[in-house]
Amino acid sequence: MYNAIIVGAGTSGLACACFCKGKTLLIDKQSAGKKLSIAGNERVNLTNLADLNEFLKAYVPNGEFLRDAFKIFFRDDLLRFINTLNLDIEVENNKVFLKNSNGKILVNKLKNFILNRNIHLVENEKVIKIEKKETFIVYTSRNIYKSKNLVIATGGLARKKLGASADGYMFAKSLGHTIIPPKPFETPFCIKDSLFENLSGISLYVQIKYKNKIFSGDMLFTHFGLSGPVILEASCFVKNCDIININFLGKNKDIFFKELEKAKSIKLLIKDYLPKRFINNISKKIPFIEKNINQVSKKNIHFAFELLCNYKINVKLCGFDRAFVTKGGINLKEVDPKSCSSKLVSNLFFCGEILDIAGPIGGFNIQAAFSTGYLVSQKLGNLPFTNI
Ligand SMILES: Cc1cc2nc3c(=O)[nH]c(=O)nc-3n(C[C@H](O)[C@H](O)[C@H](O)COP(=O)(O)OP(=O)(O)OC[C@H]3O[C@@H](n4cnc5c(N)ncnc54)[C@H](O)[C@@H]3O)c2cc1C
Repeated sequence: MYNAIIVGAGTSGLACACFCKGKTLLIDKQSAGKKLSIAGNERVNLTNLADLNEFLKAYVPNGEFLRDAFKIFFRDDLLRFINTLNLDIEVENNKVFLKNSNGKILVNKLKNFILNRNIHLVENEKVIKIEKKETFIVYTSRNIYKSKNLVIATGGLARKKLGASADGYMFAKSLGHTIIPPKPFETPFCIKDSLFENLSGISLYVQIKYKNKIFSGDMLFTHFGLSGPVILEASCFVKNCDIININFLGKNKDIFFKELEKAKSIKLLIKDYLPKRFINNISKKIPFIEKNINQVSKKNIHFAFELLCNYKINVKLCGFDRAFVTKGGINLKEVDPKSCSSKLVSNLFFCGEILDIAGPIGGFNIQAAFSTGYLVSQKLGNLPFTNI
C-alpha cells in the first residue's frame, strides 16, 4: 500500500517524485524521462526569462491556471534545483538551456535523486486500468498496486515513439473526468515544395509574416517540410490552409531594390545570405539569376522579390507524430489550480501536459511540468523544496 502512485515518469512525474515524501511508487511503461532526455535537441530548454505575467499569457488561453503553481515553484526554484543537481545553465534569447550537459545526464540525475529518497521507480511496466474504491487500485501489465493518492502524469499525445499515449485520458475518463479534445501544438509544417527540395538539414534565419504578426528565427528544412524554432513559434498561431509569407533575406522592398542595384545581379545579392543548394533551387525558378540587373525586366525583378522576400506557402500542420506538444486534455474546470487535484475524485491529482495547458516553444512546457509536478508533490504530505 503506497501513499502515492505517480503514473508516468516523464518530466512532470519525475518532478513530482523528486519532492514526494512517504511511500511513493513512480511507474512508467518505458524508461523514465524519455522525452525530457531529448528535449531541446538534447540541450533541454528548461524555462524562459519572461516575467511572470508574460509567462502566464504564453499558455493561451489557460495560463491563469498556473498562477498558483508558479507561486510556489517558478523559474528561480527550478534553476536552483538544477544547480543542486550540479548542472550549469546558459541563456539564449531568453531561453534557458543546460550548459555542457544534456537531457540524458539530467534524467540520470533526477533518477538518482529520486532513488536516494527511497521512491520506488518501476520502468517498462504499463498501467492498464485504474479503479477507485477505498483506495486507488492500479493494474499494470505485471502487477496490481494500491495507493491512497494517485497522480496521473501521462502527458499528451505528441510523439508516440517517445511514449505518448491516450491512456491517461482514458484513466481520467473512467474516473469521471471530461477531456478537451487534444490537438497537435508546436507543429512543423508538412509541406512539399519544389523550392525546398534536397535541402534537408539546412537551417536559415528567416522572417515569417502572418497577418499582422512577424516571427523571426531559424527555420530548418527537413525531409517532410519545414521545422525549426521560427516555424514552431508561428505554428501556434496559424491553422491549416492559412497563407504565410517567408522572407529569406529579411529585406523589405526598398532595401531589396537598392541593394540589388549595387550588387548588379540577383545571385551576387543573395550569395552571402543563402546556402548554395538553396540558390540552386532558386535559380530553377528564376533562370535570370546571374544576368546583369539592367537586362532583367521589372516584372522579373518583382517576381524575384516575391520569391526571396515574400514567398507564400499554404500552411499544412503536421500531426501528433511530429508535434512537440498537445493542446487540450483534462478539463481545467474539474481541477483545483491550488493543488492540481481533481474536484470530482478525492486524492486524485494531475500534473504536466495531460492538463489542458500548452505553451509555445521557449521552455514553457518543461517549466509547467516541473511547477505542476512540484505543486502536486506538496499536497501528498511532503518535504518543502527549500529543505532539500
Ligand atoms: C522532441 C521534443 C522536444 C521538446 N523539447 C522541449 C524543450 O526543450 N522545452 C520545453 O519546455 N518543452 C519541450 N518539449 C515539451 C516537453 O517535453 C513536454 O511538455 C513535457 O515533457 C511534458 O511532461 P509530462 O510529464 O506531462 O509528459 P511526458 O514527459 O510526455 O511523460 C509522460 C510519461 O507517461 C508515460 N505513460 C504514458 N502512458 C502510460 C501508461 N499507460 N503506463 C505507464 N506510463 C505511461 C510515458 O511513457 C511518458 O514517459 C519537447 C517535446 C518534444 C516531443
